[in-house]
Formats: sequence, C-alpha cells, structure tokens
Amino acid sequence: KAKETGKNKYIFFNKEMNKEIADKLYIYNHLRTALENNEFTLHYQPQIDLKTNGLIGFEALIRWKTKDFGEIPPMKFITIAEESDMIIKIGDWVLKEACQFAKEVNQGTNKYVISINVSANQLREDDFVEKVIHTIDEAKISPDHIGIEITETALMNDFAMNAKKIYKLKKMGIQTSLDDFGTGYSSLNYLRQLPINTLKIDKSFIGDLLKNDKVYNLTEDIILISQKLGFMVVAEGVELKQQQVVLEQYQCDVIQGYLISKPLTKAKALEFSHNHLFNDVI
Ligand code: C2E
Ligand code: MG
Ligand code: MG
Ligand code: MG
Repeated sequence: KAKETGKNKYIFFNKEMNKEIADKLYIYNHLRTALENNEFTLHYQPQIDLKTNGLIGFEALIRWKTKDFGEIPPMKFITIAEESDMIIKIGDWVLKEACQFAKEVNQGTNKYVISINVSANQLREDDFVEKVIHTIDEAKISPDHIGIEITETALMNDFAMNAKKIYKLKKMGIQTSLDDFGTGYSSLNYLRQLPINTLKIDKSFIGDLLKNDKVYNLTEDIILISQKLGFMVVAEGVELKQQQVVLEQYQCDVIQGYLISKPLTKAKALEFSHNHLFNDVI
C-alpha cells in the first residue's frame, strides 16, 4: 500500500510519523517532571455578561513551557496525559491552583466564578466529587466561586454515573458547564435530564456563525433550546464584534474569546478584574 503512494510520499509520511512519535515520547517522558519542576501555569480567560457588560469570571486554561520546545499546547499534551495516571496528578494541581486564584480574585469582592476543565478520566474517579469539595474547603473559598467544565464527549462516556456526580456538585453549590457543545452527540433527551447550569457553544460554531447560513440559524436554535432547558449559554471563541452583535440579538448570556481578551497570566487576570470594577470592557 505504501508503494502505491510513490517513493517521495512514502518518505515524507515516514518523517512525519517519526516526528510525531518523537514529540509524543518527549511529552510522555517529561510530563511527570514538569509537575515537579513547576513548568505548568494556569492562564485565565475573562467571560463577559452580554446584558450588563460585566465580568462574571474566568476559565482556567493550563499552559506548559518546556526547556527544549517552548510552549506545548494543551491539546497536544492533555491527550497524552490522559493515557496514564498523569492526567489525575495534573488535574489535582489545576484544581488546587484554580481554587487559589478564585480566592485571590474574589478578595474584596464576591462575584467571580473560576471555571476548571476536567477530563473524562478525572470525572471517572470514584472520589472525584469529594476531591473537588475537599480542595475548595482547603482553599477556604465558597463553592459557588468554582465551576467545572465537562466536554459533551466526556459526559456521554457514562451518562448515568456522570449525571449523578454533576448533581452532587450542584447540590454543593458548584457550577457545572457542558463544554464544546455541538461537537459530541448528546440528544435532547439526555440534555433535559442534565442538572448543569451552563452550556458552552463550541467555538467552531462561532467561527462559522457569519460564514454559513445553517450555522447562523442553528446557533439561534441552540440558544433557544438552552433557554427552555434552563441553561445559561456561553459562546466561546468570539473574535469579531459582528459575532457579538449576532449573539446579543440571539440573547446569548455570556461571551468568551479574543474579542474580549486572550487567556491572561494570573497577574494580568487580577489586573483585568480590578480594572473591570471601574470600567466596562465593551
Ligand atoms: P476548551 O476548554 O474548549 O477551551 C477553549 C480554548 O479556546 C482554549 O484553548 C482557548 O485558549 C481557546 N480560545 C479562547 N478564545 C478563543 C478565540 O477567540 N479564538 C480561538 N481560535 N480560540 C480561542 P487552549 O487553552 O489551547 O485549550 C485547549 C483545550 O485544552 C481546552 O478547550 C480544554 O479542552 C483543554 N484544556 C485546557 N486546560 C485544561 C486543563 O487544565 N485540564 C484539562 N483536562 N483540559 C484542559
Ligand atoms: Mg473549557
Ligand atoms: Mg470549549
Ligand atoms: Mg475543547
């Protein structure tokens, strides 16, 4: 089969493959020490209420700066971390770090929610809910300052079990969001049984919002259905003012994206929240 594609292509493919394997090996071998060497940081991306223009909170996004390759994006290393127990260790660190930020950013105010991404592997752990509650307790913060983001795909892995865990989190006052909505395969029947607070429309929809009539119409329907189900709606990946205008018309609740701000370092995010107490962003 390789022969049919021609010699050049075969060699090209081989090189690509070698690089991919080498990258993966590097990542795999360095993940464990990365935690010990404090190579991870969290960045925080502001989320803005479209009705009031007010800052409602931030999404915590992990960053990894390596000595040899510089920044490695989470899409690359999270999937590799998910192949072992590394994702649990990294997830524990993220949870702790984000709770610390929640504490700092709410000093002197009491209104920002920090949303934390968790992977299916974390959610699957028996003690997941207890761990979240314990970490919140240890940081001495209020549970309603923390949100947990679960992707549609992770949720559907084991819907019944995950729905129970989400219900427990909700009972404790912790916010929950369904992340990357539209990329998985949840049915209306599942959605209506789901005790989440928030639905996040995937950024691929927002990217096509102004380019594709079907997406334009579908986005309105997603928002209408979310409202009927009682979910707050966040649009992620908003880059253009015109996208914001359309989302406003559709009565989307919250936007997040480069239009407002890229994910910020901890210091910059704190600064953003302070400035925001006095100025409107948009
Ligand atoms: P996500 O949770 O859907 O996060 C949104 C992604 O969109 C982030 O990418 C963010 O930087 C990016 N983004 C935000 N605004 C815009 C925009 O206007 N335009 C575009 N093109 N992109 C925008 P990032 O930080 O590279 O993270 C990618 C994914 O990695 C996340 O997707 C999430 O699934 C995962 N991830 C990030 N941090 C963590 C973490 O701490 N734990 C776990 N388990 N996964 C994480
Ligand atoms: Mg997310
Ligand atoms: Mg997302
Ligand atoms: Mg994603």
